[in-house]
Amino acid sequence: MMNNPRQLALSILNDFGISEPQNIEIEDIAHALKIPIRHVGLNGCEGRILHNSKHSIITLNNNTDFETRKRFTIAHEIGHYLMHRKDSTNHNDDISSLSWFDDKNQHKVLKQEFEANEFASELLLPTDMFAASIQAKPFSPNLIRTISDHFRVSRTSVIHRFTEHGNHPICVFYTRNNKVHYWRKSEDFRYYIKGITKLPPPSDSVCAEFFNDNTIYSVEDSKQEIVKSTWLDVKDDFVDDVFYEFCLVHSSANLAISVIWED
Ligand SMILES: [Zn+2]
Repeated sequence: MMNNPRQLALSILNDFGISEPQNIEIEDIAHALKIPIRHVGLNGCEGRILHNSKHSIITLNNNTDFETRKRFTIAHEIGHYLMHRKDSTNHNDDISSLSWFDDKNQHKVLKQEFEANEFASELLLPTDMFAASIQAKPFSPNLIRTISDHFRVSRTSVIHRFTEHGNHPICVFYTRNNKVHYWRKSEDFRYYIKGITKLPPPSDSVCAEFFNDNTIYSVEDSKQEIVKSTWLDVKDDFVDDVFYEFCLVHSSANLAISVIWED
């Protein structure tokens, strides 16, 4: 078994002769791999996969209106099937696990969620296509939305792809139930992050506005001005320097993904 989720995804695309994943139905790959899919109404769950020693079945929530989310969920479950079925762990996936991209957490199930998300990201949007789509374009919430819509892949996965292969330094925070679970940054993001893991987000962050007042900005206002010291540990001279935050919220999961950057 190949243990690199991205290589595995590319080998699947290659096996099926797929060069433009945005133009195929991901469900067809599951059928070709002979994994049955059932569509039912699920509550608080986007999809799951059950295995015994011989068989697997994927169940998908048919109450999801977002085509993009369905595609990402199917791709994620195929990832579990290919990489994790041997240890017969069943996975129940909601938006919080489908948005989990912590590359450092070694907890077994969380690591498997990370791997399934990496697999799904690459299957739906191979890295070379991502690189071509950001060429000479500055980072902005709009760029994330445009790529996500064009390739029919989740916004969160595009944000994390940007931390790995972007052309502009960013840092991403995953905050759930008013607690920062982890952050992840581009290699060239050269600032110190405040010690906020396991704590509520900074009181002057856009993320805190969501958790405290349920504020959700419209698409036009999704690039919000903050200051450098909101999320970062900086010297006195720089605390008021301009920084930006884009906070992507999933109210149903009480989850916020914040991206911060400097223009
Ligand atoms: Zn999962």
